Amino acid sequence: MRALFDMLLGAVVKLVSKTSTSVVQEENYPDLGEDLDPKGAKGYNYKIVIDPGHGGKKGRPDPGAVGVYDNKPVYERDVVLKIAVELAELLDRSSFNVVLTRIDADIQSTLPNKVAIIRDEKPDIVVSIHANANAGKPARGIETFFSSSKRKSKLLAECIQDSMMNVFPDHRNRGVKEGSRLYMLRAHKVEGCCLVECEFINNKKQAKFLVDNYRQIAFAIYKGILAYCDSL
Ligand SMILES: [Zn+2]
Repeated sequence: MRALFDMLLGAVVKLVSKTSTSVVQEENYPDLGEDLDPKGAKGYNYKIVIDPGHGGKKGRPDPGAVGVYDNKPVYERDVVLKIAVELAELLDRSSFNVVLTRIDADIQSTLPNKVAIIRDEKPDIVVSIHANANAGKPARGIETFFSSSKRKSKLLAECIQDSMMNVFPDHRNRGVKEGSRLYMLRAHKVEGCCLVECEFINNKKQAKFLVDNYRQIAFAIYKGILAYCDSL
């Protein structure tokens, strides 16, 4: 995974497939339980932009939502970056052309910067990864937003939401939701786009889940993306 960081290209990482066409096998994720094997050794020649939500410590910092883990603050900015980098690695190994909107936890990354990357790269798929938060009593659950003004957005959101619930059946299923007002879903023309809210970071138990299970979360999103690609 460290190889990812060697490919830093400005604020954007372009991951060129290093391995032969392959799909990541479940044995890398032994604690997932049930059979989640992909259909077979199929290559996916799609370009995908993975957006770790928020980001940046310098300039105008955007830590996103905040929670508590091990009596210390834990920031959405950092949790979603770990998930995104792991997801990028999985997709790269399945022959996707992967672009991350940010790779360095310190680099400031505004929404217009991120959308400029999407407009420039013209990917087939955009997945923005977030951790949720709410006011009042901490909520729980996983939800995925789509744009009703984009043709393939709901299908992608459903595939990712379904896969998340398949991997994490004990978590509350908050379903897919219309989110065409969200900047990351409306400020570009990519039809296959969605935004996944992995759990509530302001919920202490779920903050621990997000930190401890970032690899499994990445794998669940990965499986959802494969299901979407298989249905195209
Ligand atoms: Zn967020």
